[in-house]
Amino acid sequence: MSDVRDVIIIGGGPAGYTAALYNARANLNPLVIEGFNWGGQLMITSDVENYPGYADGVLGPAMMADFRRQAERFGADFLTDDVTRVDFSERPFRVYVGGDEYRANAVIVATGASARQLGLPSEQFLQGRGVSYCATCDAAFFREKTVVVVGGGDSAMEEATFLTRFASKVIVVHRRDEFRASPIMVDRARENEKIEFALSSVVDEVLGTDDGRVTGVRLRNVVTDDTREVAADGVFVAVGHDPTTALFLDWLDHDDQGYLVAEPGSTRTNIPGVFAAGDVQDHVYRQAVTAAGSGTMAALDAQRFLEEQQHAPRVAATSA
Ligand code: NAP
Repeated sequence: MSDVRDVIIIGGGPAGYTAALYNARANLNPLVIEGFNWGGQLMITSDVENYPGYADGVLGPAMMADFRRQAERFGADFLTDDVTRVDFSERPFRVYVGGDEYRANAVIVATGASARQLGLPSEQFLQGRGVSYCATCDAAFFREKTVVVVGGGDSAMEEATFLTRFASKVIVVHRRDEFRASPIMVDRARENEKIEFALSSVVDEVLGTDDGRVTGVRLRNVVTDDTREVAADGVFVAVGHDPTTALFLDWLDHDDQGYLVAEPGSTRTNIPGVFAAGDVQDHVYRQAVTAAGSGTMAALDAQRFLEEQQHAPRVAATSA
């Protein structure tokens, strides 16, 4: 069947493009169905200073364009559209974009995850310009500044504590007066004298200048409905992440939050020939460089799988 690819990669972020680079260099001519909004979470980031090799930092979108171009150079094909359905019941696997069917003997799922947003227009306007979803990435830009962290889970506590290494003051805004975070993480944050709490409060608006600089937040107390403005230089939204896995949940093993589960130490899913790479299977590290590493693993796992298939009798793949 000449129209059956060796590999289809679903997702155009650090994991997908790195998998494409490796598979393209292995002459597997991968098709990357990269999504209409390719680039992933780095498209809403400004400066990236923690990706090795970019010694002077790089803008997130520019870095993703570099990743894409590097894979293209070695022969990866791209389809800038969203996958609408998959059928992993047998090989070749089928991947659909609307009415168009694409087939491949191996599939790498690298659809990533997205940080939950507050859903405010002002938040969107100031994304990457003071509103961040990753303290590990952006904390260092807030030396001796005041920042707000939104959320009451472990991420919010961890990010607030981490931010105190740089910021002079961190205000944790949480919508309830009880925390979802584990007590030990809350205690650590409470003991930190740089951290203040605004409980039973939500951010009604991120305040900023017209040219895109955060100046503070307007908080609303959900019990009294009182509002007040708090000056701040940055807002870290830490209200959780959602993996982009709706299309795969009927086929692939996943945890209770919807993250795909790969065999430890590999990217193999429960369906032989289907691999999961990057944030779609990682809710712990969530970094571009770890996603890229995981994309490399998936490419090598897929390559090895295809080689094994050439020397093995054909067996139909089934969902567990
Ligand atoms: P999470 O546990 O789902 O917590 C999300 C927090 O954001 C909750 O406090 C939630 O409030 C709040 N929230 C959700 N939507 C909101 C909205 N629209 N507006 C305002 N607040 C909102 O997410 P997470 O903190 O990212 O943690 C995810 C998982 O990773 C958890 O299992 C966590 O234990 C784990 N984790 C572990 C560590 C560690 O152990 N070092 C560090 C980070 C994360 P409510 O509480 O009112 O729902």
